[in-house]
Amino acid sequence: MSTPSGDLLDREVAGREWEGLRDLALRSNPRLNQELIERAYWRAWEVHRDQKRLSGEPYFSHVLAVARTCAEMNLGSDAIAAALLHDSIEDSPVTAEALAKEFNPTVSLLVDGVSKISGLRFESREKAQAENFRKLLLHMSRDVRILLVKLADRLHNVSTLEPMRPEKQTRIARETMDIYAPLANRLGMGRIKWQLEDHAFKYLNPEAYGRVASMVGMQREAREEFIVSMRDRLQDAMNKNGIDCAVQGRAKHLHSIHRKMRSQNLREGEVFDLLAFRIITATVEDCYHALGVIHSLFTPIPNKFKDYIATPKRNGYQSLHTALVGAEGRTIEVQIRTQKMHEIAEYGVASHWRYKEEENPSPVPGGEAERELDFLRTFIQDLEEGEWSEDPSEFMEELKVSLFQEGIFAFTPRGDLHILPVGATPVDFAYSIHTGVGDRCIGARVDSKMVPLRRPLTSGEVVEIVTRNDARPSRDWLSFVKTSKAQSRIRKSIREQESEQSESLGHELLEREFKRNRQSMPDEATLKVAAEAFGMDSVDRLVQGVGRGSVSALQVFHRVHPPEDKKSGIIESAQKLTQLATSLGGRRQKGVRVEGHGNMLIHFAGCCRPVPGDRIVGVITRGRGVSIHRQDCVNIVGDRIAEERRMRVDWDAGEDEKFLVSIQIHGDDRKNLLADITGQISKSDVGIQGGSFRREEKDLSALVQVTIEIRDLKQLEKIIRDVRRVSGVRQVERV
Ligand code: MN
Repeated sequence: MSTPSGDLLDREVAGREWEGLRDLALRSNPRLNQELIERAYWRAWEVHRDQKRLSGEPYFSHVLAVARTCAEMNLGSDAIAAALLHDSIEDSPVTAEALAKEFNPTVSLLVDGVSKISGLRFESREKAQAENFRKLLLHMSRDVRILLVKLADRLHNVSTLEPMRPEKQTRIARETMDIYAPLANRLGMGRIKWQLEDHAFKYLNPEAYGRVASMVGMQREAREEFIVSMRDRLQDAMNKNGIDCAVQGRAKHLHSIHRKMRSQNLREGEVFDLLAFRIITATVEDCYHALGVIHSLFTPIPNKFKDYIATPKRNGYQSLHTALVGAEGRTIEVQIRTQKMHEIAEYGVASHWRYKEEENPSPVPGGEAERELDFLRTFIQDLEEGEWSEDPSEFMEELKVSLFQEGIFAFTPRGDLHILPVGATPVDFAYSIHTGVGDRCIGARVDSKMVPLRRPLTSGEVVEIVTRNDARPSRDWLSFVKTSKAQSRIRKSIREQESEQSESLGHELLEREFKRNRQSMPDEATLKVAAEAFGMDSVDRLVQGVGRGSVSALQVFHRVHPPEDKKSGIIESAQKLTQLATSLGGRRQKGVRVEGHGNMLIHFAGCCRPVPGDRIVGVITRGRGVSIHRQDCVNIVGDRIAEERRMRVDWDAGEDEKFLVSIQIHGDDRKNLLADITGQISKSDVGIQGGSFRREEKDLSALVQVTIEIRDLKQLEKIIRDVRRVSGVRQVERV
């Protein structure tokens, strides 16, 4: 009788399920620690007893499925036990310490690691993503089985997404496609990788998935027939030649069909051709023998042959690949490999546990799995030691290259390995060694021959960078470098060079201008004042500006030595105006002293409303005397105001003089906000001249503007601080 999973809560049904799991595990490894797994089984059964999944199934069915996948991968007793317990820390009062006591420290380490990885989200902004990725790597570097159990967990979750909300389906599918499937691939686990991809594909691109699936379904019969006849022909040929092997035929997986259709622009009918055969032999010699036999039977397609036995892929994958024109003129792909290579292709890192004694469950030192871990450890060490860029896009790029094999590798003459993106040049290589090497690079020898700096490197090359101490990066390099690291360093260096150049040019132009006018170069302080008048915060910036041409040397000269004749004329008419105004009974505004001209009609500019303490400047206006602005007021910076119209002015305000200023407050639209703000302001004994209140419907906020009378900048700053403390206030600014 079949066992509906709903009955899993029944101890008897659960007992039969246990036997199923045990038999599956023992089939791949008779030496398993049955007792340990059985205890974990019943513990998990207890822990999840009252929990249901969204689908209504008992939660225990999930951990059981994950354990079965781990048993199939033959990850060993500890990992199978950990798979059963992988959700127990999160969902119950069970702790890692308790698991260590009840089972063993390895089980505890694995369960703890899987729980921690499960809390990481990868859909967020790139920065957070990079940080989470670092954590993920850190956890899995403690024991790679943590990731293997996690992959089994993810496989079951992504295959049971149906009852979830659409956003959650998409998030999990995206994360699976972007993070977990490439990781499975990096660890050489082909079988898990394509299963993850096919499930994720269904939710990420339902339309394409439906198309490919129905296409494959419709052609199933015709295809099966073709596969069977082709497989028989291949098997016959192998038998005749005395090659001991098994021939398998299969359709490609849905997502890889989709990928291939897109990359090769195939139409539906042509997908029929996407059939693959696999020949699994006993020995390596037989692989090459088998290749010879099929090449003599069918026409091989040029350039399709690849020998991954002689040069394995970086994840350890080995196989011979070829493509043939098969019966009926159809293209078929054939992979030839030994049984051992096949297991590595399907299970990757996990296959290293397949042959191991249960008594020694840690990776064999120097073995493939250990090297894989070494790779991860070095990788993380680099992260810890800050070898990696802070720039998240740079980080993700290097991560993709290192982890997802989208790259080439080249060596220094000393044998240090550098992994770079495809198309990277000697300049990228130089920057990957060290910024200083990149900056001083003048040439490169690749495999002892000089090559142009723009020539792309290929894997395995030995690259020697030639440097010269006074060399500088060239702008041309930007047109061919491939890494963001090289790009940003080159740009930075060019900027520095340009600033230096414009600075020395600016100096020269200024000196010439002052000399031409028989004046000596002004001192630093004078130039600083001039710089501020042009809206620049330092003398260096001003000098560079002159070098670049954004400010002319003559403008700077006039700023320092205003043309007096013109100016005195203007001042004279302003003074006349003042006299006229006074004789008509006008009141002179006080608070400011104009350089050398005590009696001047002045007024404070409405645009920037200066208060004592602000740095100010006077501008002689037509018919209204001297208008007082803040030095940084947008209406007067740069060359908006002719030099001769500017006057030096100083504050000369008495204690009792008040100045109007407006502040703008942005806050939550709540009851009494305005009252609380005005109350807070009144505490400082400051008069409120007016105000306005506006609701922003879109984000439920309020915008309050208040005009107040104050003594000086210090008092204004205190009021701004006070208002910021009012509850609900988000931002306070002087207008
Ligand atoms: Mn889980």
